Amino acid sequence: MSIPFVSPPEPRYGEVQQVAPHVRRVIAKNPSKFTAIGTGTYIIGSGEVAVIDPGPTLVSHREALAAALEGHTVTAILVTHCHSDHSPLAAWLHERSGAPTVCFGPHVVDATWVDDDDAPHEKDPDEPEPEEEHGEEGHDLAFEPDRRVTDGDLAASGDGWTIRALHTPGHTSNHTCYVLEEQRALFTGDHIMGWSTSVIAPPDGDMRAYLASLAKVQALAPATLWPTHGAPITDVHPFVDAFITHRLDREANILAAVRGGEALIPDIVRRLYVGVNEKLYRAAGRSVLAHLMKLVADGLVTFEGSQPGVKTRYFPA
Ligand SMILES: [Zn+2]
Repeated sequence: MSIPFVSPPEPRYGEVQQVAPHVRRVIAKNPSKFTAIGTGTYIIGSGEVAVIDPGPTLVSHREALAAALEGHTVTAILVTHCHSDHSPLAAWLHERSGAPTVCFGPHVVDATWVDDDDAPHEKDPDEPEPEEEHGEEGHDLAFEPDRRVTDGDLAASGDGWTIRALHTPGHTSNHTCYVLEEQRALFTGDHIMGWSTSVIAPPDGDMRAYLASLAKVQALAPATLWPTHGAPITDVHPFVDAFITHRLDREANILAAVRGGEALIPDIVRRLYVGVNEKLYRAAGRSVLAHLMKLVADGLVTFEGSQPGVKTRYFPA
């Protein structure tokens, strides 16, 4: 089953646009292979407002946000996760408004993880240079939420709108979505995007948690998804279902490869990603590692050594 992707809208950088009742959006000019057209910062409400994912530290975006917030009082700064295209401007906005920052928690660094992936990270020569170096998915380790929230907690509210948190680990372990209750609208950060699948890269990225978090969204049955990057998704249930099917299909193929005698990730990648540009093999390898770690947790695969990695040998359990 293919995923019914939706194309991102034509961006109007620097402008604030009303995209739904009580919902305005400013798009940062940080287009890249991780951000599509750029980071979409949402402003909820009027008068007293909440901001979701303030975005990257781009001067142009900071100025556009300042203009959009003119005459409004920010009462909460909601962060989905700590990639550098989502959270860094929270520090500036907190300083300016005094409003608390809100998230499930800070970015988690697993100090016990030994990364064996020493393949050169090839830069795509067709890729445009980001406007500033923080345009891509680095980690914002400085972010520490003033208020920690988990499932069902009130994250922010104002005149005619109420937002509750939904913890959705997978893309990162602290990833948090936000539900605008009156519209059954879910702000999905990078958990669910319309234009692309999410990057699930261990150790903080976790495929098992990600699939459980997709099921959580299905159980919530929102009417609309508003990702941080790209267009909203309105046909939610079949869309999320396609993501789940896509991952389970890949998982089944990886399990079949291991059962067929492939022990090494590069060999599994070559077998599964036929026709894919070899430059993408490293990223594909990390995605296969995420699947293998889920299969290990599910008791279907074992491995040699103390920790799964991209050079580890895997065997059927
Ligand atoms: Zn991200």
